[in-house]
Amino acid sequence: MSRRTPRPRRSTGTGPAAPRITAESPCPCGLPAAYADCCGRLHAGGNALTCEALMRSRYSAFVVQDAAYLLRTWHPDTRPPAVDFDPGMRWSGLEILETTEGSPFHTTGTVTFRAHYTDAGRPDSLHEKSRFVRQEGDWVYAAAVFVE
Ligand SMILES: [Zn+2]
Repeated sequence: MSRRTPRPRRSTGTGPAAPRITAESPCPCGLPAAYADCCGRLHAGGNALTCEALMRSRYSAFVVQDAAYLLRTWHPDTRPPAVDFDPGMRWSGLEILETTEGSPFHTTGTVTFRAHYTDAGRPDSLHEKSRFVRQEGDWVYAAAVFVE
């Protein structure tokens, strides 16, 4: 997920637009687990075993506005200098549509997903196929194969 918006740059981090996700909150990625037991573990420094787990944790990082996590799970060749969060945008759900490879035994993989959001209150969604590769053993986001 590489969405960047043309809106003016705002400060990142826990601004007023950041939703309150606590350790006990349901994980934003949609799995039936608490944030601290799911994507929160990866945000705290754990490693994703599969591309899907990395994709989910990157989606959750957009929700909790963890720019540092997004940058460190981005391939250096495609990583932007910074991640800006649009204060008018609220991520509201993630659907994993298809995965290829991306297991602990692979070195590449893809995840096709639809991420739902509201932009200034208007519902919309991002449909993307993302490509992931291993970088020094850890899965990183490489590029979007397509974005709609
Ligand atoms: Zn999660």
